[in-house]
Amino acid sequence: MSRRRKETLHELGLTPIWHRRADSALEKSAPSTLASDQSVSKVNAAKAVINDREAQISRMDWAQLKATVAGCIACRLCESRTQTVFGVGGEQANWLFIGEGPGAREDKTGEPFVGQAGKLLDNMLRSIQLRRGEGVYITNIVKCRPPNNRAPEPDEAEQCRPYLERQIVLIKPKLIVALGKVAAQNLLHSNENIGNLRGMLHSYADIPLIVTYHPAYLLRSLSDKAKAWEDLCFAKATMQSLLAQ
Ligand code: SF4
Repeated sequence: MSRRRKETLHELGLTPIWHRRADSALEKSAPSTLASDQSVSKVNAAKAVINDREAQISRMDWAQLKATVAGCIACRLCESRTQTVFGVGGEQANWLFIGEGPGAREDKTGEPFVGQAGKLLDNMLRSIQLRRGEGVYITNIVKCRPPNNRAPEPDEAEQCRPYLERQIVLIKPKLIVALGKVAAQNLLHSNENIGNLRGMLHSYADIPLIVTYHPAYLLRSLSDKAKAWEDLCFAKATMQSLLAQ
């Protein structure tokens, strides 16, 4: 460009009209664009694997589902379990009780809610004329025991979610009772505390859902037993109106 032209453009406020640096930036960005394309491909491939797993689980019958859970290594909880704890009860039950995960005794026996918390749950069921195994199914958010009885991590619950979803589809319960904060928050995708979630009718996949305290918590907090009793009465009344429809 001639000097005169440069001066004219400068006077008109039109310089600089081209930056070498811009080209450099583009050149530099080319490899990172390629890298980000590769990352997107990897993410899409991972999503496809996850979707494929979920699709397979969503087609399983009870036998296939039980066998798949028994051999599952989809999250780190498989490393410390003795055995998986699938669930127990009538496979066409009207009532579905869901806790957070197996404890030490459940890990040993393979049955959910045994030990002191299990006895209390059985008493809670009896108080509204229910019995384990008779129109009642009991399971957990995760099927393997979290070490040291900690709560399941979100990624562990997420890996186990397709199994619970399939159980719910196969059982077709009329009412779900979420036992404790972890079960309630996972099922309702909520961060609310249990005090704000109990006492109202929620919905999970169009199935009515009620929240109450986990029996293990009630063993430590006797003052909340009265509230749990209120929740059970609410659940019983809800079931009666569902059965009357
Ligand atoms: S907790 Fe669920 S997802 Fe994790 S290993 Fe056990 S069965 Fe598999």
